[in-house]
Amino acid sequence: MDRRNFVQRSALVSTGLIGCAAPGLAQQQPATPFTVPQTLIPIVGSSEMYPVRRIYCIGRNYAAHAREMGSDPSREPPFFFQKPTDAIQHVPANTVANHAYPPLTKNYHYEAELVAALDKGGRNIPVARALELVYGYTLGLDMTRRDLQRAMGDEKKPWEIGKSFDQSAPIGAIHKLAQTGHFTQGAIWLKVNGQTRQSANLNQMIWSVAEQISKLSEAFELFPGDIIYSGTPENVGPVVRGDVIEMHIDGLPNLSVKIV
Ligand code: MN
Repeated sequence: MDRRNFVQRSALVSTGLIGCAAPGLAQQQPATPFTVPQTLIPIVGSSEMYPVRRIYCIGRNYAAHAREMGSDPSREPPFFFQKPTDAIQHVPANTVANHAYPPLTKNYHYEAELVAALDKGGRNIPVARALELVYGYTLGLDMTRRDLQRAMGDEKKPWEIGKSFDQSAPIGAIHKLAQTGHFTQGAIWLKVNGQTRQSANLNQMIWSVAEQISKLSEAFELFPGDIIYSGTPENVGPVVRGDVIEMHIDGLPNLSVKIV
């Protein structure tokens, strides 16, 4: 490769326009004493499955929700946390999946969120090119053990136990971009037992999906298979065993779970 081609390729990599496999995922897998399942999400209208590499979540991305969590949305840059990849619980459309009430909490909260799924990666992606990384979209719940999250926050300890536990990421099937287009506006709502609890518009996000991808790529190198939970509107709240959560985003089938 001559220097000019090398520079061109480097420029493409640095702007995220070359998709590549995550490091460490060799094509020839060595023998292992046991197997660990790959987290896969169905792709609507395809026999292929979407392989999940990482789950990123943005915090306090709607002004009214930021205020209800006790922060000032006008001064706060976006911040991110992760859930473990196997926290995914795929919920098929037109079903009510059982979702187990998790241990240790007495204040288990729903957060309805738009989710972007990437099929390209890179670092330092400009906002103007960030949406080129998006493979598709779905909707998901960022389930939260709010009491544990708050207690850890009060002690300036990590959030993991409140946010990053088993099955904490119920999610719908991935819709390819061609099926939905990008989501810059549209209703997002969540009902519990048929009663509206959250109701907002995607255009009320403080940081757009493009801005989230751009900011995230300054902190982490992004790769195909990364998905981004884009934050929840105001009026998060608790559920108990027996409750049925239904969430909606205009342009996607509703997602429903029953807490058991
Ligand atoms: Mn959230």
